[in-house]
Amino acid sequence: MIKSKYLKKLIVEPDSEVNLKDFPSDWLDTPEGKEIGKELIKERAAEILEESRIQLAQAQELLYASDTHSVLIVLQAMDAAGKDGTIRHVMAGVNPQGCQVFSFKKPSAEELDHNFLWRYMKSLPERGRIGIFNRSYYEDVLVVKVHPEWLGPGAPADPDSKFWQQRYEDINNFEKHLSRNGTLILKFFLHVSKDEQKRRFLERLTNPEKHWKFSDADLEEREHWKSYRKAFEDALAATSTKRAPWHVVPADRKYVARAIVADIITTSIQGLGLKYPEVSAEKLVKLNEARVKLEGHAADDDSP
Ligand code: AMP
Ligand code: MG
Repeated sequence: MIKSKYLKKLIVEPDSEVNLKDFPSDWLDTPEGKEIGKELIKERAAEILEESRIQLAQAQELLYASDTHSVLIVLQAMDAAGKDGTIRHVMAGVNPQGCQVFSFKKPSAEELDHNFLWRYMKSLPERGRIGIFNRSYYEDVLVVKVHPEWLGPGAPADPDSKFWQQRYEDINNFEKHLSRNGTLILKFFLHVSKDEQKRRFLERLTNPEKHWKFSDADLEEREHWKSYRKAFEDALAATSTKRAPWHVVPADRKYVARAIVADIITTSIQGLGLKYPEVSAEKLVKLNEARVKLEGHAADDDSP
């Protein structure tokens, strides 16, 4: 497990301004990271990921059995920050029946004809399940803040700050509602530097097996780096709450990001203090009767 004093530094304090410069994108740049050193961090990260995976599988089973809570994991980031790989590695050991991943792309005409939270509401995890939003309703205060022309019909052509303020408020109220109804919300911003994004795009452009990952839009959006960064800072500041805080995860090294996300998800679910449902005395008697009856069955007896 990662020491909580390290994890605390990744949390966006509610009601505080956010300057992403204050959060490392490379954990090796921090005093703690420098002290521990690259090799040891890599080793520890692999151990933490492995340990968390095993515990996450158990925690998910308990989540399913107790059937009182659901878990919503929100992943947001700039392109090539490693959202897909994080999901793949962190959830690798979890029972596929207990987990659902939804990746949100540009909204359809039908989706744009509804309120902006509609399409996400339809995909929320039911009790007992972990739902992962690979992009989420936060796109509706991020990508469309950079490109207001994509807001769709009914929205103002030139939205003012009140418009965005109201969206943050809607999101906070939505999350409050979910949390009051038994949803644990875990939000991660995978924080990657502009240099590291360049390296990853170049890898996509040079490695034939990664060509498919590159889209022309990636370079266009990179041109808007500053506007995206500002949109993220505003959104993180406005929507980090006690019940659903944002974690700014240093993502320049994939192994660091994966270990941190895995650790936080696992310890947060464990922190719910879930219990297997208690079996009543009456049910215990029935179970015992069933056991005795089953033990009395003759071998190879095909009769009903
Ligand atoms: P990817 O995740 O790389 O497949 O890309 C999905 C694309 O859909 C990204 O460019 C997102 O910014 C875009 N997208 C997701 N949600 C929205 C939204 N609500 N409005 C506009 N674009 C969106
Ligand atoms: Mg993409």
